[in-house]
Amino acid sequence: MDDPTVHGALGKSIAQVYAIEFQNHGLPHAHILIVLLAADKFSTSEHIDKFVRAEIPSSIENLRLHEIVTKCLMHGPCGIYNPGAPCMEVGQCKKMFPKEFRTETTMNVSVYPLYRRCPSDTTFVRGREMDNRFVVPYNPYLLLKYNAHINIEVCTSLRAVKYIYKYIYKRFDCANMVLSVEQVQSNQIVNYIDARYVRMWRLLGSHMHDRSHAVMRLPVHHSN
Ligand SMILES: [Zn+2]
Repeated sequence: MDDPTVHGALGKSIAQVYAIEFQNHGLPHAHILIVLLAADKFSTSEHIDKFVRAEIPSSIENLRLHEIVTKCLMHGPCGIYNPGAPCMEVGQCKKMFPKEFRTETTMNVSVYPLYRRCPSDTTFVRGREMDNRFVVPYNPYLLLKYNAHINIEVCTSLRAVKYIYKYIYKRFDCANMVLSVEQVQSNQIVNYIDARYVRMWRLLGSHMHDRSHAVMRLPVHHSN
C-alpha cells in the first residue's frame, strides 16, 4: 500500500498500521492509523483546518472537489430528515449525524476534534438539500488524488488512538470450523459470498493487514 504521507498530504509519517475490512454488501476498505513525526502532529485548530475539513467546498473555487465531496463524503440524510435511513438505531444515527454547526474547530480531549461546520453552505444530495452537518471529515489533497470516500480523523487523545487500534483489529475475516458427528446446517450460498471477497483480494496479491512497527515482549532480565 502506498504511504499516503510520502507527498506531505498529512505530514511526515513515522509509523502506520492498517487492516482491510470487507463488508459483505460492498467493496473492501482500509482502516489506517498513521503516527506522525512530533513536529507534524496536530496540536492546534489552525493546523487541523489546513489538513482536515468537514465543510462543502465552494463549487466556484474548486468544482472538482465540490463534486467529489457531494458524491462521496455526504452522510445520510438521516435523523429527523430521514428516520428510516439504514444508519438509524432507536431514533438516533449510529454515526452521530447530523453533527452540530460550529464556526471554528475546537480540540476535544476525549475523542476527535470538533471540526468547523459553518451553517452557510448547502448542496443537493440524493434529492435532498443538505448542509455542513452531514459532511464526513476529509483531506482535500487525498480526495482530489483518489476521487473516493476517504474519511480522515485527527486522533489527538490517547483514547482516540486506543479506539482506532480496536477498530483496526476488531474483526478479521476468519474460518469457523466445527467438528461434529452430527450433520451441521450450512448455508452454501452465504459461505460462497463471504469467501469470495477475501479470495479475490488474495488472488490480486494484496495483504489483509500490515504494520510498520511491532511491539514484542522479549524474555530478557538482569541477573539476580
Ligand atoms: Zn446517519
